[in-house]
Amino acid sequence: MAREARLFVVSGPSGVGKGTLVAMLRERLPRLGLTVSATTREPRPGERDGVAYYFLSEDEFDRRAEAGEFLEWAWVHGHRYGTLRQEVERVRAQGRSVVLEIDVQGGLNVRRSVPDAVLVFIEPPSAEELERRLRGRGTEDEASIERRLAGARGELEQAGSYDVRVVNDDLERACSELQEVIETYENNGGHTEDVCDQARD
Ligand code: 5GP
Repeated sequence: MAREARLFVVSGPSGVGKGTLVAMLRERLPRLGLTVSATTREPRPGERDGVAYYFLSEDEFDRRAEAGEFLEWAWVHGHRYGTLRQEVERVRAQGRSVVLEIDVQGGLNVRRSVPDAVLVFIEPPSAEELERRLRGRGTEDEASIERRLAGARGELEQAGSYDVRVVNDDLERACSELQEVIETYENNGGHTEDVCDQARD
């Protein structure tokens, strides 16, 4: 059966491990398209412009937003982050599915412009575990951790608006589940009963 290129959004609170999960998914499914987001936050050590993000000044971000260059953009932890339309179009032109790792507001905005986008929410096993992981990363100062924890509570409340939820209790297991979600939607538009029918044939 023909595989259909789809637009997937993966969201979840900061520290839930979605970056690691998506990186692992890309290793398993190298055919997935890669897009680079734009942000106004400062690069962290080791982050390269055009690879981790396009690091833009406030003025440049404004200019691009006004020119309608973003498919979506949102304020996250006090900075702006956005998906450039051109990035998504480049990948879709190659006939590949796109996985956008973006925040919940961004995800819900994508759904408005691309109604058949598939929204996947990555959940922590518990709120305590999320805080432990966030502090364990050691990349943020206390103020930033507090901001991210507050943001996480808000994001978790919106998980119900997403199409699919995956609990990141174990990386390998969660990645397999995420891979199955992607392949199911690509193969038959997300109608799981069809998958079962095919398996019986
Ligand atoms: P970080 O600063 O840790 O790289 O990313 C912080 C948050 O920004 C993450 O939760 C990530 O999902 C979100 N984010 C990254 N790129 C985008 C984007 O293009 N649009 C939106 N709305 N959020 C993004």
